Amino acid sequence: MTKRAALITGITGQDGSYLAELLLAKDYRVFGLVRRSSTINFERITHLQDQVELVPGDLLDPSSLISALQKTAPQEVYNLAAQSFVPTSWSQPVLTGEFTALGVTRMLEAIRVVNPAIRFYQASSSEMFGMVEETPQDEKTRFYPRSPYGVAKLYGHWITVNARESYRLFACSGILFNHESPRRGIEFVTRRVSYNVARIKLGLAKKMKIGNTAAERDWGFAGDYVRAMWLMLQQDTPQDYVVATGITHSVQDLLKVAFRHVGLDYRDHIEIDSALLRPAEVSHLRGNATKARRELGWEPSVSFEQLVAMMVESDLDLVSKTQTPAGRLREVIASEA
Ligand code: NDP
Ligand code: GDP
Repeated sequence: MTKRAALITGITGQDGSYLAELLLAKDYRVFGLVRRSSTINFERITHLQDQVELVPGDLLDPSSLISALQKTAPQEVYNLAAQSFVPTSWSQPVLTGEFTALGVTRMLEAIRVVNPAIRFYQASSSEMFGMVEETPQDEKTRFYPRSPYGVAKLYGHWITVNARESYRLFACSGILFNHESPRRGIEFVTRRVSYNVARIKLGLAKKMKIGNTAAERDWGFAGDYVRAMWLMLQQDTPQDYVVATGITHSVQDLLKVAFRHVGLDYRDHIEIDSALLRPAEVSHLRGNATKARRELGWEPSVSFEQLVAMMVESDLDLVSKTQTPAGRLREVIASEA
């Protein structure tokens, strides 16, 4: 029997790498769309290099998407590529709209041209709930995005719903709450904290800068969340699902747990930096994943405390090994993000 094939956009990102591992374990042929860059940026998928097949393409370029679909003939497309960092969406709002919003339409149109039977997953976000209208948030909660990123994701969500309703595409939008891992981008708060805790513990720094410590998120483990993406595309009918743990913690809780893991008190090591505050904040997110639990049989397997411990341990290992120029560059980015 021929293997099932899947194309992942954003395979070089956090979720792309975990999803590729999951699909390979399920015996898929895994293709990843990668954009051209002057330096190779395959750090998160180096361990998979002999197993995944990379195809060139960019969400900005429609013909590259058509050609990638023709070359790879996938049954499933997971659209994970995006400009995914909220603060950058204020400094580069048009670019964010091009990648994160219109990029979805470009991919959906390419699917219509090449093979409308392809099943499509769109990486939607809890940032669409923004200034929350109710707590917890589920599939029926009204949206109120608070950043150009949230607005762009909302477009991506609705164009996915619209493709399903207009053209009967098997198109699903997964409304995923924050999910983290040792592979999380270094500028996101969980990773900034785990990385800086490691530097402080190893004597390379004394303090870290932090923004709004009152912000609350529903944080889960990325490895659990990619399982939900796959499950959505295995159902009889395409639908949208909230994926979340249902448990909320503040940035202050995150600091407390991360510093405590290495025997330190966070109050001795943080400095509030107003430059890290946002023009409009999403103060509180908590998801209700009852539908995903009921219909997909999905459950998270990693607790907040386990997640933080996993990230701190991984960064202790990384920081103790990286005294290379790239390691130092990473430190600069992490301490200034
Ligand atoms: P990352 O930022 O780690 O990865 C983003 C990926 O998108 C990278 O592989 C990047 O490639 C790629 N990419 C960006 N622009 C383009 C483009 N124009 N053409 C092709 N590829 C491009 O994100 P995550 O893995 O954390 O998240 C995956 C998706 O899920 C994103 O869409 C994100 O917005 C969404 N999401 C994430 C959540 C989370 O908590 N992690 C929560 C909810 C939604 P390159 O390596 O070249 O930069
Ligand atoms: P987001 O939910 O996708 O924006 O994920 P982030 O990890 O970037 O931010 C989560 C929350 O942490 C937001 O409310 C931020 O304002 C807050 N936060 C506080 N300090 C920091 C920081 O130093 N960096 C980042 N990225 N976020 C911070």
